[in-house]
Amino acid sequence: MADHYNTFSLKHFAGIVADCMDIPLPESYAPGIPWVSNILLARLGGTADRAVLYHADAVGQYIWQQYTDLFAPIYQHTSLALPFTSTVESVTPVAHATMYTGLEPPEHGIQTYTRPQLTCSTLFDVLLEQGKRVAIVAQADSTFLHIFAGRELDYFECPNAISVQEKSLELIAKDQYDVISIHTFDYDNAAHAYGPESKEALNAVSLEAEGFHRLAEAMEEYRGKHKTLMTYSPDHGQHLTAGGRGSHGSKMIEDMNIVHFFGTIV
Ligand SMILES: [Zn+2]
Repeated sequence: MADHYNTFSLKHFAGIVADCMDIPLPESYAPGIPWVSNILLARLGGTADRAVLYHADAVGQYIWQQYTDLFAPIYQHTSLALPFTSTVESVTPVAHATMYTGLEPPEHGIQTYTRPQLTCSTLFDVLLEQGKRVAIVAQADSTFLHIFAGRELDYFECPNAISVQEKSLELIAKDQYDVISIHTFDYDNAAHAYGPESKEALNAVSLEAEGFHRLAEAMEEYRGKHKTLMTYSPDHGQHLTAGGRGSHGSKMIEDMNIVHFFGTIV
C-alpha cells in the first residue's frame, strides 16, 4: 500500500485556536476547520478564555499508532484527535511558522532550517491585538524564542522539559496569562541521538505526555471559572536512519504525518 499523507495541513492550527477564542483572523491566514472548531466550541459551551498549547517536538503519528499506551495521559484530558500533515521541509521552524501564521512555507518565508524573527502576522500578534496576555515557555534555544521573538509577550527560557513544566505550572497557578504556548524537545533530542523508537526516546514521549497531563490538571482547578482549550500539538515526526539515529526534514511519511489532540476544560 502506498504512503498516505494526512488530509489537513498544519496551517489550520492558528485558525482553530482563533475560532475557539473568538478572535478574528486576518485574511492572510488559512481558516480553521469549521467542523473541528464547532465541536470544540460546543464542548466549551462558549468561547475559550484560556488556551494552553503544548508542542512536544518531533512526535510522529506512527509513534502514537505503535505506542498508543504512552498517550493515555493525553487522552485523559482531550476529546478530539486530528491527523495533520507537516510542512516541507519537515523541520521545526518551518512547521511552527506555518502553525502560527496560517501560511504555507513559501508565504511565511521559512522553508528550511533557518530561524529569522518572523515579520509577518503571527497568532501571537493577533492575540496581543485583542488584548490577550500571552506567554511562551520553552526549552533553551527553542525555535519559538527565535522566530516569534520581538513581541509584547513574556518569554520564559528553561533548561529542560521538566523545568518547562514547572515554570508553566507556576504561571498557570498565578493565572496571569490567557494563552501559554509551550515547547519541549526532549523526544526530538533523544530520537536524534538513539533512534525514534529507542527506549530513551519513548521515555521522553512519556515524560512530555505526563507534562501535558500535569498542565491539564492544573487548568482543571479553574473549572467553572475559565473555559480552557488544551492542545497537544507536535510539529513533525522523525524516521530511523541507517546509522540507528533519528532524522527528519524529508517527505517520508514518518516525518510528515502527525496527530494533534484537542481538549476542553470547563
Ligand atoms: Zn529534530
